[in-house]
Amino acid sequence: MPNTVRGAVTFYNNFIGEAKRFTDVEFVYKPEGLHEATIALDSSLPLSAFYAISIKPKGYLSRLFCSDVATSSACLTPQYIFNDSINIKDLTAQAFAGGDVDPASGTIDSYDISSIIADLGKVGDNLKGDVTGDGVVNSLDYSIALSSLSRKITNESIPYSLTNPPITPTQIPTITATPSATLIPSLTPTLTPTPTITPTARPTSTPKPTATSIPTPTKTPIPTKTPIPTKVPTPTKVPTPTGPVKLGKSCVNGTKKVTKSINPSWGLKVLPIPYSRPQYTCVLPKNIVLHWSDSPNFLGNNATWGALNSKNVVCGLAIDNNAILQMSNFYDDKVTWEGCSTLDDSINIEINGTKFDLWYNTNCEVVNPTNNTALATGELQKEKDATAKEYHVSASSLDWENAKYVNIVKAQEEKVLATVKYLMEYYSITLNGVTGHNKLVQNPDPGERFLKCMLDKLK
Ligand SMILES: [Zn+2]
Repeated sequence: MPNTVRGAVTFYNNFIGEAKRFTDVEFVYKPEGLHEATIALDSSLPLSAFYAISIKPKGYLSRLFCSDVATSSACLTPQYIFNDSINIKDLTAQAFAGGDVDPASGTIDSYDISSIIADLGKVGDNLKGDVTGDGVVNSLDYSIALSSLSRKITNESIPYSLTNPPITPTQIPTITATPSATLIPSLTPTLTPTPTITPTARPTSTPKPTATSIPTPTKTPIPTKTPIPTKVPTPTKVPTPTGPVKLGKSCVNGTKKVTKSINPSWGLKVLPIPYSRPQYTCVLPKNIVLHWSDSPNFLGNNATWGALNSKNVVCGLAIDNNAILQMSNFYDDKVTWEGCSTLDDSINIEINGTKFDLWYNTNCEVVNPTNNTALATGELQKEKDATAKEYHVSASSLDWENAKYVNIVKAQEEKVLATVKYLMEYYSITLNGVTGHNKLVQNPDPGERFLKCMLDKLK
């Protein structure tokens, strides 16, 4: 009996909202409770767009993905990009809740539980209570439903921003040719969570369902800002220059790249205009968002730039232990829009490396992870294993005990603090506007403790 689950997959893009719905996609069981589906994309899905994906497997509640990590209520802006080849999307960050048997109600309630109990022990195709789709109704189906019931969740509603994207229809690119290659995204949702609850006895009475209201998606909180002064006070006399020297250029929407960084000690290499944008667009920066660059071997700014370029994304700055690189257009008054976070009015800093919390103790000192008292026993190895899996490298290639990383992290911290201070002064951004990617979406970067330490040191 093939262990498969069928479901609907809907693609939303930033041009037209709902772009395409595949109503009958087959998810095939993989080891470790994962399922995988392959979908051939066609020319109705332009490659120049950003996508969000909604998945509704039969018997499970729907889930929403704007990226591998921006999911559920954090999914407000499409972030997936598909290119002209095989696109593998790892959607395992969010487990699907199962047990919503036919007729589906959008949540798991007493009807579902009693339907499964009624089917317990039956074998065959298309059994109502067969949540896992393995052809038998057993305690696994029951415990999946029971676990979902206790989580009191519902189908994820599609936010307004996905059905009504902010781009005007005139900007929809015309597709003149069918893409020559077939696009095959592999969607790998976790459909069968390992049940933690094993029923010891069948309930004597069916629990009364509590009315479940559809939760409104929580908006990403935007920090309150102190008003930006309309004028930068000009000193009457200029004995010693206190503020940063400005370029003398205001931002105008357009395709031109700047030729100078806003700080003489920074490098400049502007990334190309990002996907789906006809030109660089001016925005008033009110926030600074810190990220780690996702480089498990701390490969430096060139690697950061190359990775962003291949993803067709623009972030403001890259920082490593040797240099600060400006990757976007900054002007005296504004910067150009960056696609690195959900905050449209932000400057994003990609700091070389990953898992910075390993090097920070609770006093915000940079230490070797092997001497870091802030870490739990085995945490270093656990982070290595998780990183190895995530980046498809071997855990033994991650030599994070090496003393060189202490020096790298220290040098990077110094540059990060100086850069953030400079940007805050240049664009009158307050400390309230400085944040980390982890505060905006369900991303781990740049690390909870690292972010806290940076904010403490900026005070
Ligand atoms: Zn990030």
